[in-house]
Amino acid sequence: MKNRSLKTKLTLLYTVLMTLVILTALAVLLSLSGQALRSGVQTALREQVHQSTRDITPFEDRLEIDSDFYDLDQGIYLSVYGEDGTFLYGRVPYGFNTGEFLRDGQLRTLSSSETQWYVYDARFDLQPYGEVYIRGVSSVAAADHSTAVTFRFAGILLPLMAAVTAFIGYRMTRRALLPVRRITETVQKIQTDEDLSRRVGLGSGRDEIYRLGKTFDGLLEKLEASFQREKQFTSDVSHELRTPLTVILNQCGAMLEHPDLSRTEREGLLLIQKKASDMARLISQLLLLSRADQGRQPVNPELLSLSELTEITAEEQQALAAEKDITLETRIQPGIMAAVDETLYIRMLTNLISNAVSYGRKGGHIYVSLDLENGMAVGRVRDDGYGISEKDLPHIFERFYRGDSSRTDSSHSGLGLSMAQWILKVHSGFIDAESTPSKGSVFTFRLPAASEDRSPKKT
Ligand code: ADP
Repeated sequence: MKNRSLKTKLTLLYTVLMTLVILTALAVLLSLSGQALRSGVQTALREQVHQSTRDITPFEDRLEIDSDFYDLDQGIYLSVYGEDGTFLYGRVPYGFNTGEFLRDGQLRTLSSSETQWYVYDARFDLQPYGEVYIRGVSSVAAADHSTAVTFRFAGILLPLMAAVTAFIGYRMTRRALLPVRRITETVQKIQTDEDLSRRVGLGSGRDEIYRLGKTFDGLLEKLEASFQREKQFTSDVSHELRTPLTVILNQCGAMLEHPDLSRTEREGLLLIQKKASDMARLISQLLLLSRADQGRQPVNPELLSLSELTEITAEEQQALAAEKDITLETRIQPGIMAAVDETLYIRMLTNLISNAVSYGRKGGHIYVSLDLENGMAVGRVRDDGYGISEKDLPHIFERFYRGDSSRTDSSHSGLGLSMAQWILKVHSGFIDAESTPSKGSVFTFRLPAASEDRSPKKT
């Protein structure tokens, strides 16, 4: 029951309740109508017995019985008995014991041969003949017959009514819960595409669900505004920090050229330069992402040879890899063209390769490949480094997420992969990662390649 939808639960509840109400109402109605029916039969029995004297003409030695007396009006059998209880005239139903005692003015229920009878006896003084008893007999089963018919009808009608109730209940609940579905869908969409500008927009209803929808939209509005402020702040701060950092870097460069520097001074300046360039890198990543969030980051795709661009970018990282004694190998399928923003593509690939170097083993390998698969340019950056733990893997594309930070230095901000993911997204591509801890990782990105006819002709 726990796993059933609210729709099913409400329908079940509704149907069970309705069936119970119908059952109770039917039971009360049947019992009342049964009683009314029985008392109706009993009253008819009394009346018939009293009116039957009209069909009897008494003489001194005999009674003359009119043929109407023998009619089974309303199923009532009439018979005449002498004062001593001897049967004189009339009809008794088959199986009824005529020897039953006569009791003046009493209505009884008697059983004989598995049948139940209502019996009413009354004494009359029919002069000049004398006193006689007139007995009326009617079958109880006949009175109950109509109740049984009603029961049978109820037996057919009840399941039918339950089915109709369930159907109507289901439709109504479905309709009533439609806004809830809308709220869930909106939340799911926000979760997938992180677009806080979406609204539930239920319109102008007044019930609880509409109020929930409105509250939700209000909350989204506030959240969006506060995220917007945060983005603006990040963007402003990054922008403001860029100028002083450029000054620091320029000054460091200029001072390092000075020939009279002592060893300690040189080391100090080099450290400042390293930290300042780490900071400049972080700031440029922050700036790019905040501009991207605000939709202000320009993307200028050009039709380029992705094969050449990949080869050149990889070559530029050779020196970095060599510092760690890592061999960088490339296997690039030539002639793959794609419409990409050159700067952004280089940033994305540089990030992947520099990660492979940072998280690679000394003396290890990095393989960069590019292939054409089903119209998509598929790039892979594989390393045989430390790998990514199962716990970290689902989060590495999140902003500021840094797995196992003990292995990295402070130059790592946790922004590189989220930036790579955004770059691929704006190129209608995507990226994913696979990794075996302590064996290595492979990052695969895919983006649409340009079709042959769009590629520039070779001269
Ligand atoms: P960072 O600046 O920390 O490198 P990234 O967004 O580039 O930020 O990467 C996020 C995290 O993913 C890293 O902190 C690291 O734990 C993991 N990671 C990324 N690339 C690799 C790789 N090639 N090998 C192992 N772990 C990696």
